[in-house]
Amino acid sequence: MSTETGSVPLLLIVSGPSGSGKSTLVQKILELPGTMPSISCTTRPRRATESSGKCYDFVSAAEFDAMVARGEFLEYARVFGKHSYGTPKKWLEESRKKGLDLVLEIDVQGAAQVKEKLPESVAMFILPPSREELERRLRSRGQDSEEEIARRLAKARDEIAALGKYYDFCVVNDDMERAGREAQAIVTALRCSSGRRRNQVQKLLASFGGKN
Ligand code: 5GP
Repeated sequence: MSTETGSVPLLLIVSGPSGSGKSTLVQKILELPGTMPSISCTTRPRRATESSGKCYDFVSAAEFDAMVARGEFLEYARVFGKHSYGTPKKWLEESRKKGLDLVLEIDVQGAAQVKEKLPESVAMFILPPSREELERRLRSRGQDSEEEIARRLAKARDEIAALGKYYDFCVVNDDMERAGREAQAIVTALRCSSGRRRNQVQKLLASFGGKN
């Protein structure tokens, strides 16, 4: 099925460093009617605050490898050199069946793979306002060791450096409300692009009669 406007649903990738607030911004995007989330599979252990099937499908390394072997992932990667994360293809199929825009919250390695396979996908990068603020946010979560914080900051630097390669849009998360409105506005603007309105335009033209 296609979206209300008769076009193929959007495939929207959202990435950003750990601590950039991307999960909250993804939730803001998902508040828009006509969207649905992709639920990733991961081998990382579940945190106390997470329930399976909501944020992630938590699977064993053996299950993950079997899914890779069966070609069930649209993309997958090892993140922070530790655990594997992947986007099952089934979400893309479901988004097309339901005519809903699909939102993928994945890292830069995953974004590169999706962009390669599906160049029509759109990628949005969430930037922290400064390195100091990113470090402050990582510390205030009280979730990571000093070593882990250093690792996440180094990864953030590398991801920001690679941003120009794969990403179509950047949102600076200095204020969650403002950044949320900006992220939603990007999706709205994409939906209004003339290419995506082509079917609607054709229908309108046909209703006038005569030849185009
Ligand atoms: P966390 O373990 O903190 O939930 O996520 C760690 C990182 O993995 C985040 O940057 C997140 O965006 C990324 N991630 C989550 N799901 C996927 C996925 O399916 N594929 C890829 N490539 N990265 C993912």
